[in-house]
Amino acid sequence: MRLASVILDIPTQSLDTAYSYLADDDLVDLEVGCAVAVPFGGRLAIGYVIALAEFVADEEGTPRIDPAKLKSIQQVLSHSYFDEDAAACAQFLSESYIAPLSSCVRLFTPPGGVPRMVRRGNWWQIEEPTIGPVDDRWVSLGQAAADFVPKQNAVKQRGIIEALQGGELRLAELAVEFGSISAVLKTLVSQGVVEIERRRRMRGGGEEPAVAFSPTAKPALTAGQKSALDVISSAQERACGEVVLVDGVTGSGKTEVYLQAIEKALGKGQGAIVLVPEISLTPQTVARFRGRFGDAVAVMHSRMSQGERYDQWDCIRSGKARVVVGARSALFVPISSLGLIIIDEEHEGSYKQDSAPRYVSRDVAAWMVAQKQATLVLGSATPSIETLYRCEHVKGWQRVVLPDRVNGRAMPHIEIVDMAREFGSGHRSMFSRTLTKALFEAVDAGRKAVLLLNQRGFARFVLCRNCGYVPQCPSCSLSLTYHERGGMLVCHHCGYKEVLMAQCPECGSPYLKKFGAGTQRVEAELVALLEGRDAKIVRMDADTTTAKGAHQKLLEEFGGASAAVLLGTQMIAKGLDFDDVVLVGVINADTMLRLPDFRSNERTFNLIEQVAGRAGRAELAGRVLVQTYEADAGAIRAAASYNREAFLTEELSKRQALGYPPFVRLANILIWGKNEEEVKEVAEGIFADIEKLIFDVAGQKWVCFGAVPCVLAKLRETYRYHIVLKAPVEDDIAAVLGPLFRRRKAHKTVNVAVDIDPDDLL
Ligand code: ADP
Ligand code: ZN
Ligand code: ZN
Repeated sequence: MRLASVILDIPTQSLDTAYSYLADDDLVDLEVGCAVAVPFGGRLAIGYVIALAEFVADEEGTPRIDPAKLKSIQQVLSHSYFDEDAAACAQFLSESYIAPLSSCVRLFTPPGGVPRMVRRGNWWQIEEPTIGPVDDRWVSLGQAAADFVPKQNAVKQRGIIEALQGGELRLAELAVEFGSISAVLKTLVSQGVVEIERRRRMRGGGEEPAVAFSPTAKPALTAGQKSALDVISSAQERACGEVVLVDGVTGSGKTEVYLQAIEKALGKGQGAIVLVPEISLTPQTVARFRGRFGDAVAVMHSRMSQGERYDQWDCIRSGKARVVVGARSALFVPISSLGLIIIDEEHEGSYKQDSAPRYVSRDVAAWMVAQKQATLVLGSATPSIETLYRCEHVKGWQRVVLPDRVNGRAMPHIEIVDMAREFGSGHRSMFSRTLTKALFEAVDAGRKAVLLLNQRGFARFVLCRNCGYVPQCPSCSLSLTYHERGGMLVCHHCGYKEVLMAQCPECGSPYLKKFGAGTQRVEAELVALLEGRDAKIVRMDADTTTAKGAHQKLLEEFGGASAAVLLGTQMIAKGLDFDDVVLVGVINADTMLRLPDFRSNERTFNLIEQVAGRAGRAELAGRVLVQTYEADAGAIRAAASYNREAFLTEELSKRQALGYPPFVRLANILIWGKNEEEVKEVAEGIFADIEKLIFDVAGQKWVCFGAVPCVLAKLRETYRYHIVLKAPVEDDIAAVLGPLFRRRKAHKTVNVAVDIDPDDLL
């Protein structure tokens, strides 16, 4: 008899430990990582086994736990999904981010493929996963086919045999052609004329672009790449969980460094995980990895169907795929002998999970490589301030610099266009005169331009020029977004709509300015501006890229044209690699800067550097124009001169003075619900509890501000409050707050979430 530790698949904060169950000896298939059915609270529940041990007796010979007091596992429901390391990681996540254990274990289970417990009237029933492996039945000619002569009237027989003479076919394909064929096939199989074989089908395999499998040769490395690879290689040799930051401008050849580090890992029999931000996970990106490692590459991202993701997951588990390229959740795939994790664009906000467990991918990856004696490589042209700081102050973290582009081209010159001055001198268009002139020059020369419209923050609103009134959503208290089509004001978060009023409802003035316009409006103005010129305009935003493959199609359209302008939101700032882009324009650099958040400066700086990297990648010189109403802002000036030192000096001293990361650790406690009074009451209750904790446990160095409405105070009819907590970097916030939140009884209508190391405080 064995003793099993089981995490119940019941997502409550209070179930923060594993439960012990007996595993009878007849459960021979039971392993760590299996889903099991166990009795819990008078019913059956699903759980996952995270540890198995033989019963151990103490000195007196009696078992430490009385088996009579334990219940037994009723049934083993699956093969093992994960191993002991994964179970340890789930526990680490649960502790570090104060998240329900079940939500952490779930990260390690196959996509869409776990058994569930469902209520059927009065009892509970196990529901098998709907997603799993699928087989195709393949039909081919058998040994007896050569001598077989179908009867004169056996039309189907003859048809099928003729069809198979061209090669094997799926049974489903034959059925489409010949209708009901099972009886015919049965006869043919019994005579040895055809054979049927079940074979696993990989879903989604047919949609790879044609470029996917063309093997690419290894280029000779530049001196910079070589020294970066040397540093990574030594870390791989030492195998003690080190972190290497590859700090390299766009086009400096970071990807080639990753590829060769992966090659080394594979050579040592290790597996590798490569994380890329969801929006950069394009077919081109995947092709670069497939081009080097072929079928050993698995891909995981949210745009894939569950079936496709399941197949990739299974391919990794079976050991066939040894390199995984994916979005943040790919960190938890069942890859054996993990030796290398790479996080490209490590500064990206999308590496923070925004529901429980609210983990920071970089920090989890660092923990994982420490556990597994593996190596973590972080890459970025604009590393996060936290990472830069750690490279200076934390043992085992190092930074290597790739200051030059592979092709030796200088980074393009960045010019700031002061929009306030433009406006003051009577020029009212959202395209400054400088930008207009540059656009004309680019398209007239048959070249390409990229225009970025920053849409994070309070963009695209209507403003009364007389009294400053801004129409807001009645249920979200967010500025409404103006949509050209139908002249509607739309709430970006809940979908509320109204027609744009003719006059200001506050003061009656007719001068309602459409401020920080959306892509549609910019597109309309751009069309008017380029009227009579031969230039293709491609718009890329959330609206034009919803369909599967749309992103790719738009890029191809842009790439295929001669003179063209690509207009888009943040999603164009990355990965875009066209040789004939000579101009990059940032239409509104300041909307992000105005966001009331501690990372606003950093994000603005990063955005400008990232987007500038899209210009002048090849022979043609590039030019970058940054339009802003705040031409004097430190982040913008520093970005324009590629002066990260200057930016960091200013930003770090601000962060130190105000108490923000990397000088403190933050926790953001979110409280939300439909009833504002209740939300406020719960929030204040929690605040009082935290104050007490600080007084009793944490000490003077902790700072907690009161419970206040969030910047986004109301979203989708939901009121949001938060409590921001600051602690010294070396303190473990989760350890202090954990017990409080695990003890809390869930409120009927008010939700609470703890966000440790939050990405923003909005
Ligand atoms: P990054 O990831 O830093 O933006 P990439 O890895 O995309 O840079 O490299 C930019 C371009 O340079 C790519 O087209 C890549 O194929 C090419 N490249 C990279 N390394 C080399 C090299 N050593 N020799 C020649 N070309 C290279
Ligand atoms: Zn007004
Ligand atoms: Zn709304």
